Amino acid sequence: MQYRRMGSLDWQVSALGFGCMRLPARRRMLVKSVDPRESIAAIRLGIDRGINYLDTAYLYHLGRSEEIVGDALRGGYRERVKLVTKFPLILARKTEDFETYLHRQLRRLKTDHLDAYLLHGLNRGLYEKARRLGYVEKLERAREAGTIRHVGFSFHDTFPVLREIIDSHPWDIVMVQYNYMDTGIQATTEGLAYAHGKGMAVVVMEPLKGGMLANPPRRALAIMEEASVKRTPVDWALQFLWNGPEVSVVLSGMSTRDQVSQNCDSAERSGVGSLCPEDLEIIEKLAATFRERIIVGCTGCGYCLPCPEGVDIPDCFAILNNAALAAQGNFGQRFYTHFMRRRYKKKARCHRELAGRPDGGSAELCVACGACLPKCPQGINIPEELKKVHAVLAKGERVDKYMERAPR
Ligand code: SF4
Ligand code: SF4
Repeated sequence: MQYRRMGSLDWQVSALGFGCMRLPARRRMLVKSVDPRESIAAIRLGIDRGINYLDTAYLYHLGRSEEIVGDALRGGYRERVKLVTKFPLILARKTEDFETYLHRQLRRLKTDHLDAYLLHGLNRGLYEKARRLGYVEKLERAREAGTIRHVGFSFHDTFPVLREIIDSHPWDIVMVQYNYMDTGIQATTEGLAYAHGKGMAVVVMEPLKGGMLANPPRRALAIMEEASVKRTPVDWALQFLWNGPEVSVVLSGMSTRDQVSQNCDSAERSGVGSLCPEDLEIIEKLAATFRERIIVGCTGCGYCLPCPEGVDIPDCFAILNNAALAAQGNFGQRFYTHFMRRRYKKKARCHRELAGRPDGGSAELCVACGACLPKCPQGINIPEELKKVHAVLAKGERVDKYMERAPR
């Protein structure tokens, strides 16, 4: 494992961190849920391979993530890692909620302190709420008491907002969405440099853009094959992040032990400045190819759920993007789009069909109530984009029509 500086903190952090929002899952009676035994095995494998940074949150896996992480860290594993979780700002209503959530999280995690506690998912509105309800002062008091050792925030907004938040408080850590497709949105490359320049540790989330960069279209695969150094799609995406000095740790939400092993192998090959100009050119081409093909910039985080009407929003967008990514203008396109339409047809089209359907609700169930809109960190106009899902996957419109209109 390679280790890197954690901003101004006196930690050496593993280049790869374990993100605990996509833990291994199992299916029982048609219902998919997190698999505790396999999750514990995957987390411990990561630690045995040198990972020393674990990231979870109150909201991940509806609270199960923290419980499972707590179990995984028994038997001496807790002492080997920096443990980080997040305050669920979106659920909190009053000032005293801070202690209620923090102590519940410590109990779930079976620890007496956190190495860092982050305000979860800050944007301008949520930061105003955090200040209004006194949560920033609460963080500092918990730090003085030793319950939490360092403070920070995870972030989903634009660079100007990031700069304002950074300048308003002596934070230690910022967690940002960043990957080779997102260099100009969310925190942006400029934002990473700004945080780094202020001595903050930069933690990267969504390095594969919700798994999208792990499943490239055929044109992107051809670009990778042209390169003199052979890498997997995941390795290309991860090495891009480790190449820059601004990044301290890259979080990967690993769902199998194989993924843990492969990502640890990648981290062992990583280093600042390890990519040559030819590699960087390849990555530019890959980003351009993906941007041409993606219709909805959904990362699959699931924050928009549950939809009161039962729409499985992230899966609807994943199916549409998969159809677009596979579109090659030949027999392959027709076959894959057909396959995606079949998958979509398994989703419920009315409330009566929802009960007991593992495939969730289709875009047709959306009544445009807008309840999901403020929850989406990507700012996606969900009801509008769901219309495209329905048009392509149910009405048979050509997916290319929407690719031309996709934002770049
Ligand atoms: S706008 Fe549509 S998808 Fe969003 S919460 Fe309302 S019904 Fe669900
Ligand atoms: S629509 Fe937004 S909130 Fe919902 S899964 Fe996608 S990125 Fe996350």
